[in-house]
Amino acid sequence: MAGEPQADCLFCKIVKGEVPATVVKETETTVAFRDINPQAPVHVLVIPKVHYPDAGSLAAAEPAIAADVLREAGEVALQENGEKGFRIVFNTGAGAGQTVFHAHAHVLGGRGFNWPPG
Ligand code: C5P
Repeated sequence: MAGEPQADCLFCKIVKGEVPATVVKETETTVAFRDINPQAPVHVLVIPKVHYPDAGSLAAAEPAIAADVLREAGEVALQENGEKGFRIVFNTGAGAGQTVFHAHAHVLGGRGFNWPPG
């Protein structure tokens, strides 16, 4: 069923506590944890507890939870990086660099960023 945990999904396993992660914030619907391969001094992933393969499919099926992910991304950025500004990235699809197919927001901060992004 849509949104149900997937046995072979790494981030579903993090939600269930079966794979360790450094959790920095958790709500009823989301988990935020440090990326294991940080690309900036602050690099946190915010994921919904429900399973959808990417941000677009999450937003289409569960707009309130997609909004929770966005709100938590902002709150985590403030918690981890103060008022210094941050970037939220949703890699969507393999062609855009997505490697884990459970919706997630990258929250990046603590350094400067280029535009357009690489
Ligand atoms: O957007 P993309 O799918 O490429 O991002 C997946 C992210 O999940 C990567 O930045 C990777 O370092 C991170 N990751 C993690 N913990 C794991 C496996 C992957 O933080 N156990």
